[in-house]
Amino acid sequence: VEQPIHEAVLGGAAERGDTPALVDGVDGTTLTYGQLDHFHRRLAAAFAEAGVRKGDVLALHSPNTIAFPTAFYAATRAGASVTTVHPLATAEEFAKQLRDSAASWIVTVSPLLQAARQAAELAGGVREIFVCDQAPGHRSLIELLGSTAPEPQVDIDPVEDVAALPYSSGTTGVPKGVMLTHRSIATNLAQLSPCMPMGSGDRILAVLPFFHIYGLTALMNAPLRQGATVVVLPRFDLDTFLAAIQKHHITGLYVAPPIVLALAKHPAVAQYDLSSLKYIICSAAPLDAALAAACSQRLGLPPVGQAYGMTELSPGTHVVPLDAENPPPGTVGKLIAGTEMRIVSLDDPAKDLGVGEAGEITIRGPQVMKGYLGRPDATAAMIDTDGWLHTGDVGHVDADGWLFVVDRVKELIKYKGFQVAPAELEALLLTHPGIADAAVIGVYNEDNNEVPHAFVVRQPSAPDLTEGEVMMHVAERVAPYKRIRMVTFVHGVPRAASGKILRRQLRSLS
Ligand code: ATP
Ligand code: MG
Repeated sequence: VEQPIHEAVLGGAAERGDTPALVDGVDGTTLTYGQLDHFHRRLAAAFAEAGVRKGDVLALHSPNTIAFPTAFYAATRAGASVTTVHPLATAEEFAKQLRDSAASWIVTVSPLLQAARQAAELAGGVREIFVCDQAPGHRSLIELLGSTAPEPQVDIDPVEDVAALPYSSGTTGVPKGVMLTHRSIATNLAQLSPCMPMGSGDRILAVLPFFHIYGLTALMNAPLRQGATVVVLPRFDLDTFLAAIQKHHITGLYVAPPIVLALAKHPAVAQYDLSSLKYIICSAAPLDAALAAACSQRLGLPPVGQAYGMTELSPGTHVVPLDAENPPPGTVGKLIAGTEMRIVSLDDPAKDLGVGEAGEITIRGPQVMKGYLGRPDATAAMIDTDGWLHTGDVGHVDADGWLFVVDRVKELIKYKGFQVAPAELEALLLTHPGIADAAVIGVYNEDNNEVPHAFVVRQPSAPDLTEGEVMMHVAERVAPYKRIRMVTFVHGVPRAASGKILRRQLRSLS
């Protein structure tokens, strides 16, 4: 799809007129498609008048709000690349991203203004900080919408120009700026949408952050492109989340595994009427089949479907289509149109593996990133000269083409020549009724063997659960080399905003 992203998403917005595009899940404020179309054009004009030019980088620093998409599409229409920033980033982290991306503009919200100002001062090079709401000394979006400047006519090359510059989650290392062109994002939307059709009757709850590529695509671009209504929540809180599903008659959820876990296990779920829900899709981290089944059975829904992707893939390559008949439990889906995949040997990337054999997932297609910003070596390490992107994830396909993700190559625990996937052990731990949450990492024991160490959160109903019981639960169900050798009880498992377990933080506890 060779179109600028704002055209690809909002091309049909004006015609949708009074259909609600975005609803604030807390106070109910609504933005219609007509308003979204008009506002983003006015704001683009104001940005251009303020000096935003093609190729500039604008940092969008905000939790999920109904104004977020307006700011995003206005910036791209003015020719800027948008780098989305974690709203809880410290001033130092934010400054690093500003410097790395050479951003010259910031859009923030008043509660985060102090961090934004500090970051701008530390980084240098920022020309103006705008606020979505209101704050003394800064121009607000409302004020900018009054601009009478002409709409900017920017010549965007969808193939070359970077629309979004999200940073990868930083789960395995430093977050890297990922250059995604207008074409790669717009094409990926077109590839994914037939598997997840939506219309004006669909109401999607946006609780995962828009700043992460998953939220940006599944919760912002995809529903707005198809005319659905997006109900927006600024952060995850189980009761607010459940109340919003009930109040706004939410039809579809795009979530990460921790939310599936809560829906499957938390007592609060029974207190809400969630009967409007038609489907749940989960992505961003491994989801166990038994947990997925427990969630869908409890809610009386079709099986929780998965999707697979990464920031560097704009982000999707696999999804379980909503109309799939009997997808095998645990699959992350089938390869979407216009994309190639190979599963290659972990020892020899030139060797292709067959059905059922686990190896590294490698991908080629229009959704592959342009590269990491300013990191040609890291780019070359990930994308080979034939255009294949090496995901760093281990997976296998069955005879019908369903993909299963085992875990990340980097996180596999190597025990005496065997490989153990933390995700498998975590899934087993969660089947114990006394365990509310769990994470596993590899640590070296006194014999210098890497062994699985479990971090376990007890259910409030099981305060006496012992280390021995935890180890036994797993030992009874796995081959001896996979046994948990150490257990630490914790109050919570550290996770990124996208739901991923932050194993690096656990390492410092072990
Ligand atoms: P970094 O690359 O900075 O360490 P990250 O890889 O966590 O961070 P993302 O791009 O947000 O950053 O995440 C992509 C990763 O998420 C994939 O490589 C994969 O490991 C994991 N993932 C995504 N979807 C699934 C899924 N359905 N099942 C299992 N893992 C998944
Ligand atoms: Mg990654």
